[in-house]
Amino acid sequence: MTAIETAIGEPDWRRAADLIHGAGTLALACHVSPDGDALGSMLGLGLALARSGKKVVASFGDRVLEVPRLLRFLPGQDLLVKAAAYPAEPDLMITFDASTMERLGLLAPHAGKARELVVIDHHVSNTRFGTAHLVDPSAASTTMVVEELIHRLGLPVDRSVATCLYAGLVTDTGSFRHSVTTPAAHAMAGRLLETGLRPEELARELWDRSPYAYLRVLGAALGRATLEPDAAGGHGLVWTFVSRADRAAEGLPYDEVEGVIDVVRRVDEAEVAVVLKEDDDGGWNVSTRSKGVVDVARACAALGGGGHARAAGFSSALAVPDTMAALRPLLTPPLLTPPLLTPPPPRTEP
Ligand code: AMP
Ligand code: MN
Ligand code: MN
Repeated sequence: MTAIETAIGEPDWRRAADLIHGAGTLALACHVSPDGDALGSMLGLGLALARSGKKVVASFGDRVLEVPRLLRFLPGQDLLVKAAAYPAEPDLMITFDASTMERLGLLAPHAGKARELVVIDHHVSNTRFGTAHLVDPSAASTTMVVEELIHRLGLPVDRSVATCLYAGLVTDTGSFRHSVTTPAAHAMAGRLLETGLRPEELARELWDRSPYAYLRVLGAALGRATLEPDAAGGHGLVWTFVSRADRAAEGLPYDEVEGVIDVVRRVDEAEVAVVLKEDDDGGWNVSTRSKGVVDVARACAALGGGGHARAAGFSSALAVPDTMAALRPLLTPPLLTPPLLTPPPPRTEP
């Protein structure tokens, strides 16, 4: 038995499959500012369904429908429609990687009016806001739930579908480095590779390329990184920010700075890493990471965001010092509760 089969009950699988089989048009939506798991899970299921003859539209509720450059290699983007063209009252809507209805942004009202709403997710904080739920907090990525659903729908996983699913799996596991990297995650990767997809091509698209401007902005952000050894209950905090002025000076789009946290979080002296990123409208999105002692999901939830115990985020309208002043006191141990207990030994990958 895989983790997925135990976390989601048979009646839930059957109900979701029945709803999908019975629907005319399927309206798919993933969370705003989509990452590899959000887009990969949505487009993977969307492609599998479209190829079976279903009418499928997909979207996400950002003000401007623009796929981040890093994810433009994903197949299935012809399924994407703008919010204006999205069904106002879908017969069946399916959400991906969104823990709350608010995470759907402009498409939240559509979800509220959907006759049936299937919620597919792996966040432990999922609020079960649908009429049917495929939510497995033990899954490393939403694409793991989607792969099982495609299988149960009796649909094939070809190389295009596999590329979408693999993108979600590698991004949410941090290339099979994070603690969510279960035997089931590797087994799924093996199945996907059987379709002939090239992992080195995905890796290059996702992590190994950027415009020169990224180096300049990264340099500025790293140059002002601050280490606070006494913060996070004495376990250490490292943080920095990327303003829209930093990006404007180099002509760098917002979606290019997602990876800054992956450099900042490597600091040995800090249990918690934080990167504040200002978008083009002057709002701040805050990325937080921990190594297993501090539950950053709890801290971010207290500020209106959410995520996972070791990787979470929230939005802030405050200035940088004020956001940090609000966050700092929330970054306290105790140890995470099972199944994420077992803080890693020092100097190993979180
Ligand atoms: P990020 O730092 O953007 O890579 O996000 C890390 C994790 O936190 C992901 O699982 C996100 O889904 C979650 N997350 C980020 N921002 C928010 C937010 N504003 N509200 C809820 N969850 C968030
Ligand atoms: Mn996500
Ligand atoms: Mn995810």
